[in-house]
Amino acid sequence: MWENWKGDWQKVIEVKNLVKSFGENTVLNHVNETIEKSEKVVIIGPSGSGKSTFLRCLNLLETPTSGNIIFEGKDITKASDTEINQLRQRMGMVFQHFNLFPHLTIQKNITLAPVKLGLMTQNEANHRAEELLETVGLPDKADAYPAMLSGGQKQRIAIARSLAMNPDVMLFDEPTSALDPEMVGEVLSVMKQLANEGLTMVIVTHEMNFARNVADHIVFMEKGVIVEEGTPEALFTSDNQRIKEFLGKFQD
Ligand code: ADP
Ligand code: MG
Repeated sequence: MWENWKGDWQKVIEVKNLVKSFGENTVLNHVNETIEKSEKVVIIGPSGSGKSTFLRCLNLLETPTSGNIIFEGKDITKASDTEINQLRQRMGMVFQHFNLFPHLTIQKNITLAPVKLGLMTQNEANHRAEELLETVGLPDKADAYPAMLSGGQKQRIAIARSLAMNPDVMLFDEPTSALDPEMVGEVLSVMKQLANEGLTMVIVTHEMNFARNVADHIVFMEKGVIVEEGTPEALFTSDNQRIKEFLGKFQD
């Protein structure tokens, strides 16, 4: 279904009536959302509200119970296994934990997937890795091993690895939550730079300053539903009691 992919859709992702249940537990309850090209959508909300499940449904790490996810014009809930693999090449994901391969150099970590999938030759991938290491501010780490890097550096490598596939959209699930506070800034600054370059991004985070500064659109989720969404300005001045309470916890 993706042979003639142009990768040029104004609506990159359209989520329609997405429901996800685990047994009796309905974790996403009729979620609707549109993510446009170059848009930065930040998802906030209390723990357990379904934010991770939402991201995981977008690239089918979780199978939706019902509803539709239209990615670049195609309903991926009807995709075959091959198509799901193609989809994941176009939708990068960065998690809280970086999951780098410890026995491989940074360069190998970045080049492994695109070479294995036949998207690039090793030479092309090495060249791309060099560019990406520059992008994430770690140009001298190609030959290092993950254990030699700090948490913040590992997460920047995880971002570079994801970008190596040249995805059309990047999903970030609390990419700084596992980091020591002094390393949060370096990761957010790489993400901010990607945002400025026009990458389409969906970001779950508790970094409210980042959300305020970078988001085009903020979504507040609670108990599996989108309670409110809008511009940062609108959300941060919302009259909704739950949102005020939630945001209040981040003020110091
Ligand atoms: P958030 O990311 O907002 O903290 P999650 O999406 O991780 O929330 O979780 C939402 C709810 O879904 C939680 O109640 C969680 O226990 C449940 N949940 C998530 N993944 C699974 C799973 N694989 N099996 C059963 N329940 C799950
Ligand atoms: Mg989560």
